Amino acid sequence: MRDRSVVGLDLITNISVHVEDASRAHWQNKGHNGDGTLVCWHCYHGTDALPGTQVPLLYKGGRTAGKVRPYFAHPPRVGPPGGHHPETVWHADAKHTLLRWAASQPRVTAATTEYWTADGRRRSDVAVTLDDGTQLALEVQRQDLTDQAWIRRHEDYAAVGVVEVWFWHPRLGVPGVARHEPQCHWQLADDLTRVGIPIGVAHPAIGDWFDQPGLSLRAPHYPPCRGDETSTWWRDLNSFTIDPQGLHLPTTVYAELRAARADVAVRARAAREHQRMNPPLFSLPTTPTVSPTPAASTPDWTPNAGGPSHPVQRVDTLPGMDDPSRYEYPRSACGPDSPAVPADDVRGLPKAA
Ligand SMILES: [Zn+2]
Repeated sequence: MRDRSVVGLDLITNISVHVEDASRAHWQNKGHNGDGTLVCWHCYHGTDALPGTQVPLLYKGGRTAGKVRPYFAHPPRVGPPGGHHPETVWHADAKHTLLRWAASQPRVTAATTEYWTADGRRRSDVAVTLDDGTQLALEVQRQDLTDQAWIRRHEDYAAVGVVEVWFWHPRLGVPGVARHEPQCHWQLADDLTRVGIPIGVAHPAIGDWFDQPGLSLRAPHYPPCRGDETSTWWRDLNSFTIDPQGLHLPTTVYAELRAARADVAVRARAAREHQRMNPPLFSLPTTPTVSPTPAASTPDWTPNAGGPSHPVQRVDTLPGMDDPSRYEYPRSACGPDSPAVPADDVRGLPKAA
């Protein structure tokens, strides 16, 4: 149970308020020791009480309590014993914290809670409108949700062109069904101050990784690839911005990812240089897979046709070629190439016209 919340209801304006919306003095004048026009949002909405129950609140925390952030609380022995369920309090607090954050964003022209989509099918936790008309729905989730229920919500928003941004409580984590949907993979800390970013763990650098594509994936990366192990980077909610794509990473995170990529690029260059100075020893194929006798259709081009021959590998063969018939040719004798063998004498390749 929890006896504290950042949300209250102002009976004068009849709208929900966040404790940081106004000063301590303002709330004290309206709360339990004031005119009683600031009441518990949860009790009023019928959580653990009859709907419409008015419990004037106390302002707690804030400056005088050191680092404790301000909050509202029931007066002693008033309201439900022990307070409200943590799930319902967290959900309301999270919505109002995101609402407050969204309203402070430069591109946001409107932000509201409890908003129905245009087709009346879905109520979002926080609805946000941007200056270009983009509609976003911020959703917070702390209770288990079946995959089917989530997919239905996801479809309803998509059907009306709303950009969804999902924040999951760390107790749940990001469920698999949402992990790779854009903007559906954020976490919101229990204390509501930080957002968790899923960062793809660096792919293993094996073999000739430095010559393979996807060099940036050898560093921590965002978004993570499907199947990646992820680590969660927690950053202050107020360092995120909102744009038509949804939540935008803090600039410091982009800088950290860039630095990690740069480090990988430097290591790749060093590894490539190391390989150039210490070329690996490639083993020659030992078992000839071609017949030592040329097929009947092959022109007879051996220096001494009919004599004994064995396969020889072209000196310029590149590693990784798996078809010996492309780079081997039979020779009748060991030793340096005789002038009788033309330079383009590679079986399987058409001769230049
Ligand atoms: Zn209450």
